[in-house]
Amino acid sequence: MVAETESPVSTSSTNASLIAAVEAHSARNYHPLPVVVATADGAWMTDVEGRRYLDLLAGYSALNFGHGNRRILDAAKAQLERVTLTSRAFHHDRFAAFCEQLAELCGMEMVLPMNTGAEAVETAVKTARKWGYRVKGVPAEMAKIVVAGNNFHGRTTTIVSFSTDPEARADFGPYTPGFEIVPYGDLTAMREALTENTVAVLLEPIQGEAGVLVPPAGYLPTVRELTRERNVLFVADEIQSGLGRTGRTFACEHEGVVPDVYVLGKALGGGVLPVSAVVSSAEVLGVFRPGEHGSTFGGNPLACAVALEVIAMLRTGEFQQRSAELGAHLHRELGLLAGTGRVTAIRGRGLWAGVDIARAVGTGREVSERLVDRGVLVKDTHGPTIRIAPPLVIGKEDLDWGLAQLRGVLGV
Ligand SMILES: *Cc1c(COP(=O)(O)O)cnc(C)c1O
Repeated sequence: MVAETESPVSTSSTNASLIAAVEAHSARNYHPLPVVVATADGAWMTDVEGRRYLDLLAGYSALNFGHGNRRILDAAKAQLERVTLTSRAFHHDRFAAFCEQLAELCGMEMVLPMNTGAEAVETAVKTARKWGYRVKGVPAEMAKIVVAGNNFHGRTTTIVSFSTDPEARADFGPYTPGFEIVPYGDLTAMREALTENTVAVLLEPIQGEAGVLVPPAGYLPTVRELTRERNVLFVADEIQSGLGRTGRTFACEHEGVVPDVYVLGKALGGGVLPVSAVVSSAEVLGVFRPGEHGSTFGGNPLACAVALEVIAMLRTGEFQQRSAELGAHLHRELGLLAGTGRVTAIRGRGLWAGVDIARAVGTGREVSERLVDRGVLVKDTHGPTIRIAPPLVIGKEDLDWGLAQLRGVLGV
């Protein structure tokens, strides 16, 4: 008998056989494209049958620095051999640098680490409420947080309570009270929603899941002014938009806005493990006392080592610059599709675009499936939209090849 090799690429399984096994044994909470990835490097993934695909999704920005990034893997491997987990019951020697350097990157003072994005959003909600009661003086149980329609902030019961997406929300009640939803980009509604009991406005500076929706110019700065005037925290969920995606470290920077609180995740984990954080001032994060909030895995040594490498890479500014330059190229190229009648809208900033496909061409899902056949991976969001968000390390020629495949699918 021949022993099975330990090759990472399975030789006996096909995409189809593995997908059938997934369908039998995995809950159906996702509808993946029909590709089974075995290995990946940079902006490229290889499936179990040896076919290569250009990754134009980058794990929804979790892979901003590409698959198998050498610097990040080296940092992770070195830390794996030293110490990986202590829990916050003890200090570990990576934590101070992580907090200090992440705060500095954000121009803030304090960091509260968690793991997933949803946990960081939950943490921001708890922070804002506690700040509201302890600092602002909101009467007990009265705190309100204003959010935007079509938001995506994660999947916990509290977060889906303020979702407007029926798929994300239906049959998960009873819902958490204390949230008020206003249309994204509508300043009149925002102004009217702010009351004495409002503790925070929680926004994505660009709405990712909604289809890479960029708010009207001036929206974020005016929200910033209003929240400052009314003593309300401006909480920016930069989990998908942040850390280089838009050509700046934070999407808020495009509008010259500094929020009170950043919520970070996705790319902070370097594509290796989930790392998230809430970053703010000492006044705001100083509201927590021991025992009031936490996470067993949050801020663990491995997470800190990986995030420290991510922060070091962002400090050079080269990834932001690359995203800005290649992003300008991407948007110029996509702009040429505008007159063809095959797409109806193009939005985004930096290496991030939402493209609305004309009905005659097909749905976002159908276009995504046709791109799979041509070796390109993107993902549809609601209905007609496909999202393009390659790793920031993608080569220009690879990006151009991917765009040529998109033109092929669109028939232009
Ligand atoms: C992905 C995302 C989240 C949730 O992050 P998870 O790690 O999936 O929990 C929250 N907010 C935004 C804007 C996101 O894109």
